[in-house]
Amino acid sequence: MLDLFENQNQQNDENNGSHKPIISEEELSDADVLVELKKIKEELKDQVVVLGHHYQQDDVISFADIIGDSLQLAREAANLDKPFIIFCGVHFMAETTDMLTKAHQKVILPDLRAGCSMADMAKRSEIDKAWAFMQKSTKEKIIPVTYINCAATLKAFVGDNDGSICTSSNAEKIIKWALDQGEKLLFFPDQHLGRNTCFKMGIPLSDMVVYNPNMLNGGLTAAQIDKSKVILWYGFCSVHQGFTLDQVHATKKKDPTMTVIVHPECNFEVTQAADDNGSTSYIIEKIAKSPAGSKFAVGTEINLVNRLAQEFLDKTIVSLSPYQCLCTTMYRVRPRWLLASFRAIKDNKPINIITVPEDIARSSIKALNRMLDIK
Ligand code: SF4
Repeated sequence: MLDLFENQNQQNDENNGSHKPIISEEELSDADVLVELKKIKEELKDQVVVLGHHYQQDDVISFADIIGDSLQLAREAANLDKPFIIFCGVHFMAETTDMLTKAHQKVILPDLRAGCSMADMAKRSEIDKAWAFMQKSTKEKIIPVTYINCAATLKAFVGDNDGSICTSSNAEKIIKWALDQGEKLLFFPDQHLGRNTCFKMGIPLSDMVVYNPNMLNGGLTAAQIDKSKVILWYGFCSVHQGFTLDQVHATKKKDPTMTVIVHPECNFEVTQAADDNGSTSYIIEKIAKSPAGSKFAVGTEINLVNRLAQEFLDKTIVSLSPYQCLCTTMYRVRPRWLLASFRAIKDNKPINIITVPEDIARSSIKALNRMLDIK
């Protein structure tokens, strides 16, 4: 099966001729892009809604009608009626939105190169191969769970194999459900969310193995698969791997009153050493509800951390890392790409439409609904 994302990139090349912005800087300055965007958004307000993920840059977020994490945005989109939804986020999020919206609605990703390096670490062909090896290696029932950060083809895989999708907010609940349905869990693509959540649930590290798709049989023997309770896929978020144990120790040493709060996509050592960890929504809520004067060193994407610092001026909010932990693929969505999407709608020739093939969508929705039904 062709990789959907590669397909979309190819389509992008065909649409645009190259990866250069359709509206060049020679044609329009950054400042003029913002002026035209304001005007065209108002003009098309009955037709277009703009969704913005928390990790988007400020200039893009300022044009978002709804801001949220991937699932919040997809769910909001399901209640909308406007014919065009411009999704300022990454590819898998636009796919999820396409699957949850109505047939007459079109979901547009302003820059088709805006993928997710973690999602790209698990391809459907690799999962199929791994699954066949795992089935041969054990008689116990394996339930597959995928983090929502993956291509639709992987969501379809769990839909067709009695599994479920999860988000960083509900991972614990979904993993508990999975282990009630079978003896083993296959969790992909993010090993860290899987490991951190399972450990929190009391599963020892010795019951977990990591399947690396770049090695023969994932680098595991059949006996290791059979003995394990949790099989973690070797995927990770490069942004959240930017946070280190040394940074946690240095922060606490400099100011012991600082609360270190990190996303569970961070590695095990960082998550264990931090004072708290949770999904994007959890981090936002925790900071919002804290009393004035609270201090947080946050281990997640820098655009969100900076925005929280600007929003809660009565609190100290800094990044845990001294380096810019920026999601470069999210950052690909720039205002001039957003403007190009608006202009194309105005010209009645919409571009960069994300469409999930019907059969894949059907199986994926099965998995999405299963997740929503799990109490
Ligand atoms: S922050 Fe990480 S998981 Fe999220 S979109 Fe970027 S690369 Fe993917």
